[in-house]
Amino acid sequence: MDEVRARIRDVPDFPRKGIVFKDITPVLADPKLFHRVVETLAARWRGEKVAKVVGIESRGFLLAAPVAYALGAGLCIVRKPGKLPWQTVREAYQLEYGEDALELHVDAVGPGDRVLVVDDVLATGGTASAVGNLVARQGAELLGYSFLIELGFLGGARRLGTSHIHAIVRY
Ligand code: AMP
Repeated sequence: MDEVRARIRDVPDFPRKGIVFKDITPVLADPKLFHRVVETLAARWRGEKVAKVVGIESRGFLLAAPVAYALGAGLCIVRKPGKLPWQTVREAYQLEYGEDALELHVDAVGPGDRVLVVDDVLATGGTASAVGNLVARQGAELLGYSFLIELGFLGGARRLGTSHIHAIVRY
């Protein structure tokens, strides 16, 4: 996975001053690395009977879709408020400044569904834990989380309330 790490591009001060943005587009654009990343993310959950993979807007979709396909699971999407067309459940979460919210269709996941949540980056964990709450509120079984990148120094894993967290590249 050193090759994947080498192709993740650090973009300082994007989208705001002080943030070092982890740009995964060079990894996705490389056929060999894209394939390897999706296979590695999926391999962690093979044999766990994942029914639904939930992708988080928007870069999470890019990984959740091929992982769901590789696992033979369904794909569900969590989006910013007002983007999903059907009835939704909403979960608000704290940002560094203020609050944001995410939505999931009411019928996307439900009791008996074994669910995996996928996103590109685990940072403070606020986003992923909000999605985990949405899944749990719908009565589904949250198996765990997969990320391409974990920014371990931000301690996001502690917020997720599970040890079932998989990341390919850790900083
Ligand atoms: P957090 O809620 O703090 O864990 O932030 C996670 C969300 O913000 C993910 O959906 C990421 O796409 C995005 N994100 C946070 N920090 C970064 C970063 N340094 N580079 C790229 N994306 C990030």
